[in-house]
Amino acid sequence: MTTDQALSGVPAHRIVRPILTIATALLTALFVVFLPVPADASATRPLQVTFTFDDGVADQLAGQQLLEKYGMVGTFYINSSFIGLPGYMTRANLDQLKAKGHEIGGHTVSHQNLPTLSADEQNRQICQDRNTLLSWGYAVTSFAYPFAEFDATTKAIAQHCGYNTARAVGDLRSPFSCSDCPATETVPPADKFETRTPDDVESNWTLANLQNLVTRAEQTGGWLPFNLHHVCTTGCPAESISPTTLDRFLAWLKPRSVVTIRTTVRTTAQVVGGTVQPAVAPIAPPAPGAPGVNTVRNASVETAGTVNPNVPDCFTSAGYGTNTATVSRVTDAHTGTYASRIAVTSRTDGDAKIIPTFDLGQCSSQVAQGRTYEVSAWYKSNVQVFFTMYKRNAVGQWSYWTQSPRIAPASNWTRATWITPAPPADAVAASFGLTIDSVGTLTTDDYGFADTTPGPAPQGTNALRNASLETAGADGFPQCWTGAGYGTNTPVWTRVTDAADGTYAEKLEITSRTDGDAKLIPAWDSANCAPLVTVGRTYTLSVSYKSDATTFFTLYRQDSNGTWSYWTQSPYIAASAAYTTATWTTPAVPAGTQALTFGLTLDKVGQVTTDNYSMIAN
Ligand SMILES: [Zn+2]
Repeated sequence: MTTDQALSGVPAHRIVRPILTIATALLTALFVVFLPVPADASATRPLQVTFTFDDGVADQLAGQQLLEKYGMVGTFYINSSFIGLPGYMTRANLDQLKAKGHEIGGHTVSHQNLPTLSADEQNRQICQDRNTLLSWGYAVTSFAYPFAEFDATTKAIAQHCGYNTARAVGDLRSPFSCSDCPATETVPPADKFETRTPDDVESNWTLANLQNLVTRAEQTGGWLPFNLHHVCTTGCPAESISPTTLDRFLAWLKPRSVVTIRTTVRTTAQVVGGTVQPAVAPIAPPAPGAPGVNTVRNASVETAGTVNPNVPDCFTSAGYGTNTATVSRVTDAHTGTYASRIAVTSRTDGDAKIIPTFDLGQCSSQVAQGRTYEVSAWYKSNVQVFFTMYKRNAVGQWSYWTQSPRIAPASNWTRATWITPAPPADAVAASFGLTIDSVGTLTTDDYGFADTTPGPAPQGTNALRNASLETAGADGFPQCWTGAGYGTNTPVWTRVTDAADGTYAEKLEITSRTDGDAKLIPAWDSANCAPLVTVGRTYTLSVSYKSDATTFFTLYRQDSNGTWSYWTQSPYIAASAAYTTATWTTPAVPAGTQALTFGLTLDKVGQVTTDNYSMIAN
């Protein structure tokens, strides 16, 4: 009889005070002597043990071999964008896991701390990863939260993305913690999107520690998952188990499947059950920017990062090699209050920069094939600098793309710019940084990343600049917008904070009228604010509005001589007291047209407030 078997008769209770824990330990010692164990206790309540492996690191293949040696299968939680990188499994490894009956679960695209991300970005991290793994041919039903970090939003998204279960860590008895916790998770789990486990297995766990968790769990039956990370012999991280210990543990565990004990090794999916749900499309990231639109978030670096306040929000300190680089937030700014400074105080090799965070669209800029992009930043430096470019592929894997020629030092604020080559065939997004690679100082502000391709915006992208009217212009209208109309009436324009999107909207009120109309339109210039268009194509216009009178879209076209004229208009659109969206698709653009502008038109005494415009080529 072992100590753990002897405890089967002890009622479960939770002890929170250390002094009571000591008292319990004394009682436990007595029970070891006096309490008998029913021979069939575990036979009526089988125990299912699961071995899970996180992150898809290559040394886990040793764990795979050991499981197969004993006819067992495990669950491998994969970060899809890591597959094929040095130190990680390959697609061929994953195919082999599948062929041998192991389970492949999801662990997000790139192992971020999910609750620190926007809900949309969490959705992309979870759904896109699952969809990639499904597209590779795996039956993906189980998820594990990276770092075991999640909140109610994260749990709901994991369920939305088609998972049957999601793993937390902790809240089960562990060798060095949680001594008053249950020994097993229930079957089915009490909360399928917050399943409990012992602590992650670490290198200081002995064979006896592992065995004790099993024998104790056998008293109640249920589910006992072991979270493994590295299977490693020398120079191992804390979250690891040696192949020798794992081998001995599995050798001990294997015969416990006999009918008198009924402890079996199963995958998470086998324990939790359920069918493979269809793929759920992730929320699309912001579309590639229209020509001329800067898509860098927090471009003037005014907002500090929440995790590291020395680095601007939506940026990451990046670099490599052996050097000492310090990033700080400084008030020597080009615009606004803050700029970002990198001081390299010693260097053997490598470089330093800040870059829009390598993500799936919350901070990084999407790019379109065949377009040309200009990167820019205002800077001061006492050494040469250059732009480094990175690209992201459809799976979510970031890699080096290219870099610019060297740019001269500048003691006063100077705008550095570079036109990148066309994005590589596999690029769907880009990031970049102005880079310092010698001892010196670089201060940066007002980053830019914009499509500079001559010609119309590509299909599916919003062709309008300052579409949400957030940036004020010099003339009282939003930048790139102007008031238009004709006839005898009195239009009053006001920038208001009653916005449908962002902070600002524009209100138009006609206070008196004999005839004519008024509207807000993209300024009718040449190829800056008025979008270039493609002859023969239709365009879908939309705007968020509220009004106390009917309105309609009015369109103007610019011919190849640069002359603007009335083109067409939509049917009347109903008044709406609350924000709603007006949408209208134009006829095909007539021959000889190079640009369009349009507005939501008011032709009576009344008011209309507009925000969040778009014009998208079909
Ligand atoms: Zn992980």
